[in-house]
Formats: sequence, structure tokens, C-alpha cells
Amino acid sequence: MIAENLQKVKATLKPDVRLVAVSKFHPLTDLQEAYDAGQRVFGESHVQKLVAKQEALPKDIEWHFIGHLQTNKVKYMASFVSLIHAVDSLKLLREIDKQAQKVGRVIDVLLQIHVAAEETKFGFTPDEVTEMLAEDEWRGLKGVRIVGLMAMATNTDDEVQIANEFERVHELFGQLKERFFATEPAFKELSMGMSGDYLIAQEHGSTMVRVGSMVFGERDYSQPFHL
Ligand SMILES: *Cc1c(COP(=O)(O)O)cnc(C)c1O
Repeated sequence: MIAENLQKVKATLKPDVRLVAVSKFHPLTDLQEAYDAGQRVFGESHVQKLVAKQEALPKDIEWHFIGHLQTNKVKYMASFVSLIHAVDSLKLLREIDKQAQKVGRVIDVLLQIHVAAEETKFGFTPDEVTEMLAEDEWRGLKGVRIVGLMAMATNTDDEVQIANEFERVHELFGQLKERFFATEPAFKELSMGMSGDYLIAQEHGSTMVRVGSMVFGERDYSQPFHL
């Protein structure tokens, strides 16, 4: 079933859009099934679970951290995480830098942009991110490399609103690239789109979609986590 779902999702993706299989709340057996079907990029949103899964599964998996990240948890994944999607403060960026340097790595990150209507979503506003980048401190953080932006659209059926929000992030991405990353080709990723809206996201510049339930089925939040 998972292999079939993966095929279905991939068949709808543009050739240069990457699929992050969001495996949170799913057991190891499901991840192994996706792995056996060729999937190598997985996204998790809880640090302890990410670490447990990383330890148990094949070592050629690329692990992405997609959720809200607390600074005191960075150290647990610094040695292996491939991409941290949702950096939403300079404080967190500094901590990732510190932990990366401790283990002799440079960790790729995305800056999370808040464009959704919901109050509860984390992220920089377009003004805040511009201000943070203009202040230049980030350029001295040698343990992190900012490779793009991440955003979530409002959870709504209004596809016009979703498209507008993704397009705002796409435009911001272009502006930031020109102003701050003109000489840095690594700044090229736009992580936008989940099961319900990835088709819209890829029409608005997404290079990376984070798809969970369409690959693994509905999450069962009532179950305690098990491996
Ligand atoms: C859970 C989650 C997803 C995947 O959501 P689905 O609707 O299951 O595809 C994507 N991005 C983030 C940040 C998430 O927390």
C-alpha cells in the first residue's frame, strides 16, 4: 500500500520537485516499507522519535526535521540531520551553528516564513526575516548554511487563498535570493506543500513537498509511539 501511494504521489510531482515522506507517528515497519520502495528522504517532527528511527533504520536515509524545534533539542540530531526545515529565530540558528561546529559539520537549514492566517503557526514574517538577514550576524555562523525557505499555507479549502500565500513566499524567496544570496547557489530550496496542498505549492515554486498522510495513511495520535 505504501509503495503504491508513493508511486501515486511521485507520478503527480514535477521532475525537479523532491518528496519528503513525512513519517511522524508511523512505526518503523512503515518507514522500512517506504525505504524498500526506494524512498530515501524522511521527515519527522519530534526529536526523540527522529533519533530512535535514525538509529534503527538504514544509514543512507536522509533525515529532515520538519517541526518546531526547541533550542535544547538540537544537540540530539546535530550529528546526522540533513536538513532542518523550520528555523524561526536567530537564537535557534545560533544553537544549530554551535552544535554543528561541535560535531564538525555544516547543517543545512530553511527559514520558516509565516504567511498563514492562523495565529498559532511559527515563523518569521517577511519583514522579520529581511531584518534578520540584513543584520549580517548569520554570515558568521559557519556551522549553518541557509539553503532556502519553508512555509505552510492556511488550513483552508480556499485554493485561491492557499495559492496566494505560496506565491507570496515564492516572491519573497526571489527577493531574498537577489539581495542576500546572489553569490550563493545553495540558496535554492522552497519547502512548501503537504498532502492537501502540494499540487498548488508546486505551481508556485516549491522544490520540496512534505507529504505524510497521502503516503502513510492517516496518523493515529491516540497510539503511544512504538518502534
Ligand atoms: C505533519 C506535517 C506535514 C505532513 O502533513 P500531511 O498533511 O500528512 O501530508 C508536513 N509538514 C509539516 C511541517 C508537518 O508537521
